[in-house]
Amino acid sequence: VSTSPQRNTPTTQRSAPTQDSVRRQNLGALLRYVHVSGATSRAELTNQLGLNRSTIGALTADLAGAGLIDEGVPQETGRAGRPSLVVRPRSSRVYGYAMSIEVDRLRAARVGLGGKVLDSRELPRPHGTAVHDTVATLAGFVRDMQHAVAAAGPADAVFVGSGIAVSRMMRHADGTVRMLPAGPPLSPDAGLGARLGLDREPVTGNVADLAALAEHTRGAATGLDNVVYLHGDAGISAGIIAGGRRVTGHGGHGGEVGHMVVNPQGRDCGCGSRGCWETEIARSVPLDRDAVLAVVEAAGSDPAARAAVRQAADWLGFGVANLVNVFNPTTVVFGGALRELYLAGAAHVRGRLSTMALPACREHVRLRTPLLGDDAPLVGAAELAFERLLRDPLETADAAA
Ligand SMILES: [Zn+2]
Repeated sequence: VSTSPQRNTPTTQRSAPTQDSVRRQNLGALLRYVHVSGATSRAELTNQLGLNRSTIGALTADLAGAGLIDEGVPQETGRAGRPSLVVRPRSSRVYGYAMSIEVDRLRAARVGLGGKVLDSRELPRPHGTAVHDTVATLAGFVRDMQHAVAAAGPADAVFVGSGIAVSRMMRHADGTVRMLPAGPPLSPDAGLGARLGLDREPVTGNVADLAALAEHTRGAATGLDNVVYLHGDAGISAGIIAGGRRVTGHGGHGGEVGHMVVNPQGRDCGCGSRGCWETEIARSVPLDRDAVLAVVEAAGSDPAARAAVRQAADWLGFGVANLVNVFNPTTVVFGGALRELYLAGAAHVRGRLSTMALPACREHVRLRTPLLGDDAPLVGAAELAFERLLRDPLETADAAA
């Protein structure tokens, strides 16, 4: 997930293209640093990126020339001497579109470099809406925001990319939930960019993976290399980061932890199997944001609701213990509808963890809720939108201008 800078050490065998690629990588590392960390002094960049002062000066001059950052004198530091210049991402000028297609809603945002939300739109997603039918709604959001930026500026605003978080689940008109068929539900091959009114193809990913990416970049799991993010949205899927890398599997379909079988005698699952983790939890508490909230609230006064929460939290802990044994994460994050269930039944989740997880795996694990809350999938989609720019800042800015 992270890009380390390369030291600019000339060797006799290096030819011009290699120097170019080192420079490109350093430009990307610097821009990524201020994108994630915000305003940063040149002195800190020198330290953090392990490059010398003159190299940092040359890189910031290039990025400023391309209109991606600006530099200024910091606020009063109270220290004597000349203050180090502060480098900031040009959030209002350089932007991307982030979209998320969740089971019960559609969202889109115009996000500035640095992760600043500049504009946003949201609508409920009616039951039975197929993924491809939602493209028209998203295109409307984009058109709206394009008009807004054209009218209000800035005049030199530049669009650099877009990302879409897509839930693998859809809800039928009768309320039942099913998984989308294998294969990318929204394929850029189908001219998706053009259908959305964008002049370049969006990058797509699934909701749990992108929520994990968001929490890893600027949320509850910042700087952590081994993270399991669990997203409840009709079912349960996971975004897994192992050794600092996102784990998505061969076809990008990994992380379907909701279909781990936890009870062979359990109830039939929509996936064709039975006793799947999400199905066993949903027997007590439906994995739906509103439904979870209703049961949790009722548990304050209603013993039956209290028992349902206990049962569901117990099953939740059962699956978490298995995942902790497999991935040995330092942090498990409970997002989407699972957030409320975890908060209401944390003692039961921990109880399962302490009896089922191996001591070596459970000792260092922290259970958390997302710092970005329900925005995590959208924030993750925005990270995808900037991926290309951060890989090759000057080329991408040039092509976009
Ligand atoms: Zn299943």
